Amino acid sequence: MSFGKLLQSMFMLVFTGIISLNLAAKEYLVDSPAAYKKVAKSLTAGDTVILANGTYQDFEILFTGKGTKQKPITLTAETKGKVVLSGQSNLRLAGEYLVVSGLIFKNGYTPSSEVIAFRRNKKDFAYHSRVTETVIEDYSNPDKREGDYWVALYGKHNRFDHNYLAGKRNKGVTLAVRLNDKNSQENHHRIDHNYFGPRPIFGSNGGETLRIGTSHHSLSNSYTLVENNYFDQCNGEVEIVSVKSGKNQLRDNVFFESRGTLTLRHGNGNVIENNVFFGNGVDHTGGIRVINKDQIIRNNYLEGLTGYRFGSGLTVMNGVPNSPINRYHQVENALIANNTLINVDHVQLAAGSDAERSAVPISSRVESNLIVNENNKQPFTLFDDVSGIAFENNVANTAPLTSLATGIEQQPVTLKRAENGLLYPTNISKNTSSNLGVSRDLTPITKAQTGPNWYPKTTGETAFGSGKTIKVTAGEDALFTAVANAEDGDVIELANGQYNARKVIFIDKTLTIKAKHSQKASLTFERGTFFEILDGGNLSLDGLVIDGSNSPDYSGNTLVRTKKWGMTENYRLLIKNSLIKNLDINHSFHVFESGKGAFANEITLTNNDFVNISGDILRLDKEIEDLGVYNAEYVNVVNNRFNNVSGALIKLYRGGSDESTFGPHLLMTGNTTNNLGLGKRNSTNASLFLHGVQVTRVDNNSLNNSAPIVVEHTVGEPITEIIKNQLSTAPSVVELRVEGEHTAILKDNSFQSNKTSVK
Ligand code: CA
Repeated sequence: MSFGKLLQSMFMLVFTGIISLNLAAKEYLVDSPAAYKKVAKSLTAGDTVILANGTYQDFEILFTGKGTKQKPITLTAETKGKVVLSGQSNLRLAGEYLVVSGLIFKNGYTPSSEVIAFRRNKKDFAYHSRVTETVIEDYSNPDKREGDYWVALYGKHNRFDHNYLAGKRNKGVTLAVRLNDKNSQENHHRIDHNYFGPRPIFGSNGGETLRIGTSHHSLSNSYTLVENNYFDQCNGEVEIVSVKSGKNQLRDNVFFESRGTLTLRHGNGNVIENNVFFGNGVDHTGGIRVINKDQIIRNNYLEGLTGYRFGSGLTVMNGVPNSPINRYHQVENALIANNTLINVDHVQLAAGSDAERSAVPISSRVESNLIVNENNKQPFTLFDDVSGIAFENNVANTAPLTSLATGIEQQPVTLKRAENGLLYPTNISKNTSSNLGVSRDLTPITKAQTGPNWYPKTTGETAFGSGKTIKVTAGEDALFTAVANAEDGDVIELANGQYNARKVIFIDKTLTIKAKHSQKASLTFERGTFFEILDGGNLSLDGLVIDGSNSPDYSGNTLVRTKKWGMTENYRLLIKNSLIKNLDINHSFHVFESGKGAFANEITLTNNDFVNISGDILRLDKEIEDLGVYNAEYVNVVNNRFNNVSGALIKLYRGGSDESTFGPHLLMTGNTTNNLGLGKRNSTNASLFLHGVQVTRVDNNSLNNSAPIVVEHTVGEPITEIIKNQLSTAPSVVELRVEGEHTAILKDNSFQSNKTSVK
């Protein structure tokens, strides 16, 4: 304890004795869990407990007492930001008028189901209490399948404000408002001015940033106010915010480049207003999804959103007639007014219409919205009868669909960005102009106005090449030593020569390893794997010659793999301009193998030659339990050549019926293969084996004397395009969950056997 030496006793008692006539508020400075425990038993209104600066390990704080409005009981830091709770630490609050501030949770994870819980146990909750200026960063269970909440609000009239929550990597909502007890319903909590920092793609359901209620209690009202929060790249899953209760207000929040939507999943009578969504054209950025009764969506600004389907800029769903509580209730009496949608690619109405979801929206109004698409593509898709939605007084620059034409007037629109950072029309001629789109006084909150002002906001992932360049010449363990000494973002530049790795090289930072002169540095390795990516690791290999001939004479070697089990941090792998050869000393020698639980944000192979490989190129098929989990979000294979590869080029697997994710995505373009995928150990008998991949584009490739492309569609209306390829045999596409013809687009492909084009 850095200040421990200043303390003569276990704790200090200071009688401030200024205000109270009969009861002096006490201030305790404590420097250990034991010292805290002693004072925590007898706290009374007006008392303050100060945690001495320092790092506390495994400190499970139970903070209870009965303060008053005028005299709350306070737990705070000696210096805000200098008190760190790590290891297996957490915080429970129970009682009344409790205030906690200034703490940081990092370098650990909670041993219980919540990092901060507004309750002691199932019965004993917090009321009129507040947690402010507190940080939880990268405080994730190392087993990402183990669920917890970082913050759970119970009780009533609590406030959670000016906090910083970023980097949750394990399963479970970042902040949950719980309604599973009547003492937590109609709670009037206030959640405001928080910074919800980047939440990486989780790769299955369970990655929501904020959830209010659950389906079971969704017909209860919550009266939770969510305002002035900043959601920065909250990319966990399709629901950034999941409202599952009634009478909540979500207003004046900013959603910045966040994949997914604010979803009114369950519960009635919620008000969504004055929110700003900036997608900046990022993949899968969405806006608001409407389900249930009496929802008001008013004066929201949405710009640059690319999302589609349930992740669209605006989605109004179909319901299930007499819906069970956990399915989809019909949209009724929705008001969607005075919103501005600029470059929102998709607005989907009666979405999800199918045999089960057949109840179309009724008694609803869409009015005085401004809809501008600078690419001149109108954004609406109607999936069913939308005559239950009255359109009135809307203006769009694009020609509306015929059935919406009476309520959407087409006008040329010129936009100008105002001082508040939002675009407004300058030339609306109609008399409606004064009341069209969002109001002039909408002011989006800035990142800087949220979170504790003493804690810097993260800058996101480290870019390749953002560090210094380390020049390396060939010599014993030269590469191993250089990697060990490098820092995040560095580039290791190899002079011409022969490099041999005696040991596995572990990558736990962002590193580029490149040849000074392309393909003049040759690398061999003696262990069963050359590079292993660990948490925090990202690897780019550029211009190398890598030869497997020094590798051990065992089956199952790999050039690159991730940690075999239990990675929690997403990674990136790039291989470019390289020659990878002779990975064939024994069978099943793979270029890359994902571990179970590992998740790549991106794997990109560009302009490489792969020659004589006895295994697969990319093995991304470790999540076989069919729970909607998968191993990579974006896989790009561009302008490579593959010769004599016994295994598959790609095995990419996402199983199950869950619809909470957007990926995987595969882009494969401009590649040439010869003798690919025909080895007897290639159990898929495929050159590409794609199961449950959501977005696939395979174009302009030449697959000669190679196994077929095999595509298995599962859930989520996957988009598959196989176009302008020269193929050995016709691709196989099957629908595993939907009746009828497959939905893939196969066109302008020619086939080696007969050289004819088949559409
Ligand atoms: Ca979800």
